[in-house]
Amino acid sequence: MHNEVFHIPYVICGGGILGLLLAKELSHKFSPDDLALFEKNEFLGEGNTSRNSGVLHSGIYYPTDSLKHKHCLAGNKMWRNLASELDITVNPCGKFIVASTCDEVERTKELREQAKKNDVPFNELKEEQINKLKEVINYEDGFFIPSTGIVDISEAIKKIENHLFNKNVPIIKNDEIISVEFKENKFFINTKLSGAMTCDYFFNVAGTDAINIRKMLGHSELENYFVKGNYVKLNKKYYNESLIYPVPQKNLKGLGVHTSFATDGIIRFGPNTQDVDHVHFKVQDSIVDEMYPEVIKVFKGINKEDLSPDYSGVRPKIKLNGELHTDFWIKKHDNYIECCGIESPGLTAAPSIAKYLIELIK
Ligand SMILES: Cc1cc2nc3c(=O)[nH]c(=O)nc-3n(C[C@H](O)[C@H](O)[C@H](O)COP(=O)(O)OP(=O)(O)OC[C@H]3O[C@@H](n4cnc5c(N)ncnc54)[C@H](O)[C@@H]3O)c2cc1C
Repeated sequence: MHNEVFHIPYVICGGGILGLLLAKELSHKFSPDDLALFEKNEFLGEGNTSRNSGVLHSGIYYPTDSLKHKHCLAGNKMWRNLASELDITVNPCGKFIVASTCDEVERTKELREQAKKNDVPFNELKEEQINKLKEVINYEDGFFIPSTGIVDISEAIKKIENHLFNKNVPIIKNDEIISVEFKENKFFINTKLSGAMTCDYFFNVAGTDAINIRKMLGHSELENYFVKGNYVKLNKKYYNESLIYPVPQKNLKGLGVHTSFATDGIIRFGPNTQDVDHVHFKVQDSIVDEMYPEVIKVFKGINKEDLSPDYSGVRPKIKLNGELHTDFWIKKHDNYIECCGIESPGLTAAPSIAKYLIELIK
């Protein structure tokens, strides 16, 4: 009798948007028998993929030529193709970035310069647009970015999952990868349900767990720095033709409490920024009190009673040798490929990152 461990050439750890789009890209190149994606939760996308604003960002905020800038710019365009290929709803609503106090006007000027450097088209506002905005927000200055949109992320996950199912790509849900080790030129993996297996290429796209996974392979220079983002929902109708964002914090910890709206028609404000030492998604009742001042700094006509706690996500920020690393971290060590620090604009960037990961293994 001999213990035969089964071998899969390409294994993906994590069924968020990045893992799913990577599986889609791999399935164009290789037989589905050579692939497997493991997701520890019962449903795909249950991590940050379903806990964000669903915004397809333009690429304005990030340092020129950073990974965030390049993949966001490319991913924004690629989402439009993906949406038409798989019939996913994208609302091409655009967004206003506004200064609500005189002190912030300098920042909107800087952002216009950043938009030019980053190749992000924007429009100056016409008088009637400004007058309309002044009815709903405190307005001192602002501009409009037409390339920003909103993707229906739950529909996107379902349609990508169906696409992979139809192509016979094995997606194993409810099955956590609990250990991975590299020896004899192979990865030895253990999962909760499927047990032991080996693979040639191991992709770590595990979101907030990515650092733990890389530690299993002996990589220790990155540490987690989790920043939670809570949302509150508005229990009445409000302006929803385009998104409205304040100028972002200078340290880019978050983009500022902004409006968001999905196909459910509900208006939300968020996400705020709250340092946390572990990943948890519970939203405290006190969140309305905490976020209300940030909401009314920009938005008019909102009473505290109009708001209620909603959902949250946790930004998987990273520290490199103790210092905050503000860009995505996408690396290949031999046949181990990892994506860490995939916070915003990770949803937008995902199609472009997935393509790039395929380039890395060529
Ligand atoms: C508050 C907030 C707002 C945001 N807003 C936006 C936005 O508007 N636009 C935008 O572009 N981006 C936004 N983002 C960023 C975006 O949500 C993420 O970048 C994106 O979802 C990352 O996808 P992912 O697949 O890398 O990670 P995830 O979606 O977190 O997926 C990782 C998956 O790996 C699984 N996993 C972990 N460990 C294991 C294991 N051991 N075995 C098996 N499975 C495992 C997890 O269960 C999870 O499903 C926001 C993020 C936050 C937190």
